[in-house]
Amino acid sequence: MDEHAGELPRDAARLRALKGIGRYTAGAVASIAFGAGEPVVDGNVVRVLARLLAVRDDVGERAVMERFWDVAGTLARGVRPGDLNQSLMELGATICTPRAPRCPECPLQKDCEAHRRGDAETLPKRTRRTRTRNITAVAGWIVRRGRALVVQRPEDGLLGGLWELPGGDLEDDATPEAALHRCLDERLGLAVARATRVGEIEHLFTHRRLRLHVFRCQEPSGRVHRRDHAAHRWLSPAALCELPQGGPTRKALALLCEGSAEPHRRRLRGRAAPHGP
Ligand code: SF4
Repeated sequence: MDEHAGELPRDAARLRALKGIGRYTAGAVASIAFGAGEPVVDGNVVRVLARLLAVRDDVGERAVMERFWDVAGTLARGVRPGDLNQSLMELGATICTPRAPRCPECPLQKDCEAHRRGDAETLPKRTRRTRTRNITAVAGWIVRRGRALVVQRPEDGLLGGLWELPGGDLEDDATPEAALHRCLDERLGLAVARATRVGEIEHLFTHRRLRLHVFRCQEPSGRVHRRDHAAHRWLSPAALCELPQGGPTRKALALLCEGSAEPHRRRLRGRAAPHGP
């Protein structure tokens, strides 16, 4: 009302400047209501164009979508752009359907590359992306009489069969320290009087990002009497080094080594395993 004297703008650029009007709506209004040579690209149009031109690139990519807008823009510069845009959308909705397109009834059949190749149903291509999940966990360096406690993960699942420092996942709204005490108690039956946070490491798996808080613990009371793992061992740091470990454990051990001034620890830093706190 303020800027256009109560009149809806007739071109796509000024329509898009209005709140709530995006590229698609601007193109549809400009071309259908006002006959402007503006493209409209929705899922139906993408499918028709991808098949017509046999575009095998991932339509989830922004650059690929821009190409469709360019092609649709070129087509819309002809006569009756509103009708052209509507017919492309209608064709995709009724004839060039995702499954079993009705090519014999299609007015574009003669020019359709995907129909000629016989692979229309495989287009358009869209790679399904798996979102990275964030996980936060805790791990403790626990030593008794010069031997460190390590536990073996179950054979199946992530890092199956590998050895790591005891700990577990951080549950919602627990502090890392509280989570460590809980995990040691629930999974091993161990209680440590005090745990000092050394720092944290980050490790990226294919679809998971692990943030691991690492603690150095006081000697525990009691014995390991729960077996929530495939196995557990008290090992000298040198023996611990030889066990198969995953990336997060290697990083946690390297973190525990950091700042150590003792020569034998420095030597081991290259192997990413500490010789005790
Ligand atoms: S010929 Fe078939 S695949 Fe090609 S545009 Fe028409 S319906 Fe779609």
